[in-house]
Amino acid sequence: MARAFIGFGGNLGDTRQIITDAIVCLALRNELHIVSKSCYYQSAPVDALGNDYINAVVEIETELEPYGLLYVCQAIEQQFGRERPYENAPRTLDLDILIFDGCAQNDTELTLPHPRITERSFVLLPLLEICPELFLPEFGILKAFLPQVAHQRINKLACRNCTCDAKTLIKSSEPPYKTLN
Ligand code: ADP
Ligand code: MG
Repeated sequence: MARAFIGFGGNLGDTRQIITDAIVCLALRNELHIVSKSCYYQSAPVDALGNDYINAVVEIETELEPYGLLYVCQAIEQQFGRERPYENAPRTLDLDILIFDGCAQNDTELTLPHPRITERSFVLLPLLEICPELFLPEFGILKAFLPQVAHQRINKLACRNCTCDAKTLIKSSEPPYKTLN
């Protein structure tokens, strides 16, 4: 089983609900299970216009290969109406694989670890919340990058649904539990 971290973000629609529902969709996949989930964070757009983002990070264990996980993530983005009219456009839902075990690769379709992990408070804070001592050979100890993102506006939101159990997640995402397809 591989251990991976996935970043969730969005700034179009009821993003908090969308992310909760998307995590339920992920939790229901047979090829993986959710180990832990961060709280939700509200962050200012970086290099983009539009509303504030809502972000969260989820840790999973999976039998999938990295590309298999990418396709699962992209299918869930589609399910929630993700569109890409231009670069960094506002989005209903973005799923990025931040870390996949010790995988290091730089394909156009999949770069691992995600190259901007250390540059964004909306990735670092939720990631360090669930794994405070995280170390990556490419970057070193991740918490050392916190001062560099300290100027980025971000707020941890009150934690309503901090559970990783699929059944509880489904309950807490009512009423009604819905997806857009
Ligand atoms: P972004 O997340 O950079 O705002 P997109 O979600 O539109 O933009 O992703 C653009 C492309 O990034 C996708 O087509 C995907 O193949 C590629 N990509 C490269 N590395 C990763 C990764 N680690 N996780 C998710 N997508 C990735
Ligand atoms: Mg993305």
